[in-house]
Amino acid sequence: MMPQISFYNTASRKQEPFTTLHPRVANVYCCGPTVYHYAHIGNLRTYVFEDLLRRVLDYGGYAVNHIVNITDVGHLTSDADTGEDKMEKGAAREGKSVWEIADFYTQAFMKDWERLNLVAPSLWTKATDHIPEQIALVKVLEEKGYAYRVPEDGVYFDTAKFPRYADFAGLDIRGMQEGARIGVTEGKRNPADFALWKVSPKDVQRAMEWDSPWGRGFPGWHVECSAMAMKHLGPTLDIHCGGTDHIRVHHSNEIAQSEGATGVTFSRFWLHGGWLLEAPTEEGGGGKMSKSAGEFVTLDFLLKKNYGAMDYRYFCLGAHYRSYLNFSWEGLDTARDSLKSLRRKTDPLIGRATAIASENALGWQRRFLTAAYDDLGFPQALAVLNQMLKDPDLLEGEKAALVRDFDRLLGLGLAEKGEREDRSLPGPLAALLDERKDARAHKDWKRSDEIRDLLKAKGFGVKDNPDGTTSWFPL
Ligand code: AMP
Ligand code: ZN
Repeated sequence: MMPQISFYNTASRKQEPFTTLHPRVANVYCCGPTVYHYAHIGNLRTYVFEDLLRRVLDYGGYAVNHIVNITDVGHLTSDADTGEDKMEKGAAREGKSVWEIADFYTQAFMKDWERLNLVAPSLWTKATDHIPEQIALVKVLEEKGYAYRVPEDGVYFDTAKFPRYADFAGLDIRGMQEGARIGVTEGKRNPADFALWKVSPKDVQRAMEWDSPWGRGFPGWHVECSAMAMKHLGPTLDIHCGGTDHIRVHHSNEIAQSEGATGVTFSRFWLHGGWLLEAPTEEGGGGKMSKSAGEFVTLDFLLKKNYGAMDYRYFCLGAHYRSYLNFSWEGLDTARDSLKSLRRKTDPLIGRATAIASENALGWQRRFLTAAYDDLGFPQALAVLNQMLKDPDLLEGEKAALVRDFDRLLGLGLAEKGEREDRSLPGPLAALLDERKDARAHKDWKRSDEIRDLLKAKGFGVKDNPDGTTSWFPL
């Protein structure tokens, strides 16, 4: 008997057995990046958690329709629908157009995605490709009486018309009203009301704006996710996920506007990943890693410091996705050492897999899946893997098969020697590897060997594969 998949559902505040609306099909929507800057490793922690979710569903035999959006318009620096547009801020910072910024950081994000071995979603959806759908949704909300206009500002959702508004996040609406006497956007009826459409200020030509029944302008950030999710996955999703920072505002708003428009449950399960926290420094600091704070750590930065992307993935796997995780270099070193020692045990097994047949092997598989299926209990699953490798009664072939099987969920590349080619070798070293490739193409074996020795001196081994590619691995 396969164990049952269950998840902690933010909506019910309980762990529940996972079920889907349509048999064996899982419709999953994950809030994606706002592409005005690089993703930091806190953002990436959330995508690693969502990747584990995706892999569990794939492994569990579901046909997964998995959407990740790219927010390339409408995300303002303040949750209160004021402040600058993040995209325009990025453009001003770099002296480029908003479209160039969106393109550049989308590409950078996709690169991080691949390096972390995240399974590609079924569909990436860009907010700017879905403007008509967003306008249509706002129109429905207006027709149903959920929306009101604020002259020269835009169209807002009236949260008082959606009595369940506070339930999802357990909001204290009365407290919000008392606290909001100062600083509430002029014209808003209730402090929690949020923009569905913002009109461009008079005499200002914005870089991104579209015609609408309410005037030229741009959509609110929240409406993007609802419109894209419902267009591609239908009115009721099986799972919606994101980081816990989205519960109070973004996801409460998505629920209000989607359910206001359709009258049915927007998502049956809501999964939220805990924050990556920065370690406090002598000057203070600490707390949630965030882009707006200015300084933040990117995956590129880790690679420059000679960590592998898989070291960071392993670091994330070591903590349960719902708990806070403190980022520290010591913690990352420990993850790197643990992964290295794991690889020392799994590398010799590569290519030796037989079938998983004995009762003993099936028992290890069941224990591993029980952990992974129990609200993505990957710290426990990793412990099961390590115990399994020590089992003297298990045949090598079965051990090898179990490693390959478990890695379908772990995604650490344990079934391949070293890391795959061009994944995360630090920049200058990657250039050396390229040069070596050229040298080999020109049969310059002397230069090829010199470069191999140079890389060796830096702690990296290279292996020339029979198919003509070259892999590298930490020594
Ligand atoms: P953003 O690009 O800011 O819209 O965020 C992308 C994703 O990263 C969202 O799901 C956020 O909830 C999540 N996120 C933001 N900061 C952190 C953090 N420090 N730790 C974990 N996830 C985060
Ligand atoms: Zn979203």
